[in-house]
Amino acid sequence: MVLPSEPEFEQALGELSESIKEFLAANPSYKKAFEVVQVPERVIQFRVVWEDDQGRTQVNRGYRVQFNSALGPYKGGLRLHPSVNLSILKFLGFEQIFKNALTGLSMGGGKGGSDFDPKGKSDNEIRRFCYAFMSELQRHIGADTDVPAGDIGTGAREVAYMFGAYKKLRNEFVGVLTGKGLTWGGSHIRPEATGYGLIYYVEHMIAKACPEYSLNKSETLVAISGSGNVAQYTALKVLELGATPLSLSDSKGTLIAKSTVRGEGFTKEHVEKIAELKLRGGSLESIASEFGSKFEYHAGKRPWTLLPKVHIALPSATQNEVSGEEADALIKAGVRIVAEGSNMGCTPEAIEVFEKSRLAGGPNAVWYAPGKASNCGGVAVSGLEMAQNSQRLNWTQAEVDAKLKKIMADCYEICLDAGSKWSGERKADVLPSLLVGANVGGFIKVADAMRVQGDWW
Ligand code: NDP
Repeated sequence: MVLPSEPEFEQALGELSESIKEFLAANPSYKKAFEVVQVPERVIQFRVVWEDDQGRTQVNRGYRVQFNSALGPYKGGLRLHPSVNLSILKFLGFEQIFKNALTGLSMGGGKGGSDFDPKGKSDNEIRRFCYAFMSELQRHIGADTDVPAGDIGTGAREVAYMFGAYKKLRNEFVGVLTGKGLTWGGSHIRPEATGYGLIYYVEHMIAKACPEYSLNKSETLVAISGSGNVAQYTALKVLELGATPLSLSDSKGTLIAKSTVRGEGFTKEHVEKIAELKLRGGSLESIASEFGSKFEYHAGKRPWTLLPKVHIALPSATQNEVSGEEADALIKAGVRIVAEGSNMGCTPEAIEVFEKSRLAGGPNAVWYAPGKASNCGGVAVSGLEMAQNSQRLNWTQAEVDAKLKKIMADCYEICLDAGSKWSGERKADVLPSLLVGANVGGFIKVADAMRVQGDWW
């Protein structure tokens, strides 16, 4: 029984349950697997006590949800954000199980973090928090047990502090975290992986659904939300290919390019400036005026209702960041592809709007991809980092990028194939549901491994 006090987890569970309905009706024995898979193997909650710069005691809640280990060691990021609670981490851990399955690599699903807010903290405070956090987490994780990574609020700096703490406490240099620095066990392309992977996935969607909106054309207009790790590398890959990013946002507001004239969006220099700002914990509002008259800042707004014309929309900030009304606005602006860089970026209402449009078919239909498929590139390269750590080797940038492209192509094929089989009768011009495809494809793989390992029968 799911407690109603876990709204985000219930939402993720509801989405999976709805998506695999047709598959379960045809394969009723798997109903038992669905009942079992929704209960985490283990949930760890702990106290994190640390000292601020004034010498005062501070206390936060720490968590690790070890959700499923059927396919490999638990794997998933650590979120540091004041909103963190068990519902959010259970939803993220649950999504992670099926996402990791879609990468084809040997990784189970987990997620963790703390309600600690890194914003406004000094570097020393961050270090003391990370050490305190790891002093408890270290006893529950390990290179073959559970391998955390970054997420919102946990970037390269935090991963480095946590790795340092683990090494001191355990006296071992092992691949217990991913997202490490390149000179001490990290992988090429890990920082870029989620954004790059998202675009590789989207390129397959465009090729099938609307090749006229190729990302090699500057007249292809792309809306992106967020301005953190995922949004930055998404924008940079869009620019590298030649299309035009029109928006970036943060928790306070959105910066948009006013013109929809080809090529007049954000540039690489703009994105680099924002990356530097975000490293300092600044907000877009503080630098909006430096972008000149071609840009406009909208306080308290998300990008989706602000753009008169857009072809590709990529939510890349946080969960539930596209509402039903915003989905309608995107459709009015001409959107054809919506793919999540964030986890559960779209609300159920927004997904309904997009799926309805897909089912209507025809030349204006929208095709939606859920984060567990379209953003799996990040964890995929984390998996490749684990493989390199086991070999004690470093692959080249080109090797890792080629493997990432292949993983995203395979993931897309799995989604397309399972979506074609399990998303109902369709007219010839209606695309299969990638939502159903991702959920069924991931679920079957995990459920089958759980069955042979004796988790259900
Ligand atoms: P970052 O912390 O680097 O950036 C998060 C961005 O989202 C910031 O711009 C932040 O604004 C904004 N944001 C955070 N919370 C909210 C909110 N409640 N409302 C509006 N904006 C918000 O995180 P990532 O880029 O790593 O993660 C973004 C999303 O991608 C998350 O959903 C994450 O789970 C998902 N993801 C990340 C992966 C990774 O490899 N990093 C892998 C797969 C998915 P501000 O700067 O003001 O805080």
